[in-house]
Amino acid sequence: MAKIVMKFGGTSVADLDRIRHVATLVKREVDAGNQVAVTVSAMAGETNKLVAWTRELSPLYDAREYDVVVASGEQVSAGLLAVALQTIGVNARSWMGWQLPVRTSAIHSSARIESIDSSELDRRLAEGETAVVAGFQGVAPDNRITTIGRGGGDTSAVAVAAALKADRCDIYTDVDGVYTTDPRIVAKAHRLEKVTYEEMLEMASLGAKVLQTRSVEIAMLHRVPVRVLSTFDPEAGGTLVCDEEDIVEKKSVTGIAYSRDEAKITLHKIPDRPGIAAAIFGPLADSGINVDMIVQNVSEDGRKTDLTFTVGRGELAAALKACEQAGAAIGYRDITSDANVAKVSVVGIGMRTHSGIAQTMFRTLSEKGINIQVISTSEIKVSVLISEEYVELAVRALHSAYELDAG
Ligand code: ADP
Ligand code: ASP
Ligand code: MG
Repeated sequence: MAKIVMKFGGTSVADLDRIRHVATLVKREVDAGNQVAVTVSAMAGETNKLVAWTRELSPLYDAREYDVVVASGEQVSAGLLAVALQTIGVNARSWMGWQLPVRTSAIHSSARIESIDSSELDRRLAEGETAVVAGFQGVAPDNRITTIGRGGGDTSAVAVAAALKADRCDIYTDVDGVYTTDPRIVAKAHRLEKVTYEEMLEMASLGAKVLQTRSVEIAMLHRVPVRVLSTFDPEAGGTLVCDEEDIVEKKSVTGIAYSRDEAKITLHKIPDRPGIAAAIFGPLADSGINVDMIVQNVSEDGRKTDLTFTVGRGELAAALKACEQAGAAIGYRDITSDANVAKVSVVGIGMRTHSGIAQTMFRTLSEKGINIQVISTSEIKVSVLISEEYVELAVRALHSAYELDAG
């Protein structure tokens, strides 16, 4: 007998037939003698609808009320799944985030889970009750409802699994595992049998939406074994996210991720002197803007240079404003921006021991005539910023170049 957490994403609970199907998958685990806590996302499309309604009423909406509205999608699916389970004889009840409670920070719409009190849940699981926990939601220190960022259902599931010290956390979704790249854009992508926490963390944070980044962080920290499985084909192999020691075959590149959520800002002719980076990035940090890639050109005369950096596309306007306000302290001549850029990254722990990975990337992109605007690297990834129109071409070409194509 094991204690397991099963998470079902939006497409898995998109209508009543699918909710009935999910109930049969849960019942199977319960009948096998396992203690089961299920976490659910809102029915597909619901969260988008709720976000749009809130924005339509007021572009400057109150973030606390936004959370009240968007968290409701999970309340519906959790209640419906509990009913569906009861109908087939499973002793189930729903739990909202505040009822456990799932305690989070007060940063509405992107709160961080700080702790989960799972004592009552644990007691009831031991008594044979099945829990259906609403994902994506929690409660702030002042008792107001919070949500934990888009795609946060994964994080709720892993956090519940960590709190319960569950034997595993199964993430059921619309693909049968983690692929070498997004199977929606590369038909030749293939499923990874296993992927390390570290690689998954990079893939997620570099754009692979199959798992929310924070969920992988929590899994890694608490050593929660995570499996990604298909709701519609649960017998297909799935992917295990695990420790490096558990992986035998290590290729140089494990996967390719991409993100269109990028924008580029260039400050032209800034003074080339100590303190200038602090004058630029200080105000951006103070405005809560995350800067990702940075490149500073060599100055021709030793006095003036250009500096380019990237921010999330949604933060472009705020970043430009922060730079303009700090303009006098920075002393740039001109500022330009481009929101039609995308980041493509190759990821693999094998990079630690294989050389020439970056070179293959640069050569492949150059053969396709794709210009690289910014480069950044870490121990297990190389990322490049390119024009958005070439994303799919770049991802496919790199997928072939690193011999990741299936068949
Ligand atoms: P859910 O609603 O179940 O949380 P998501 O839409 O959030 O599902 O995540 C699943 C999707 O992630 C897949 O349909 C796929 O298009 C996308 N995806 C992106 N990168 C990858 C990858 N490397 N492997 C698998 N799926 C990926
Ligand atoms: N329903 C939320 C969203 O659409 C959370 C999730 O699906 O993971 O972002
Ligand atoms: Mg998701």
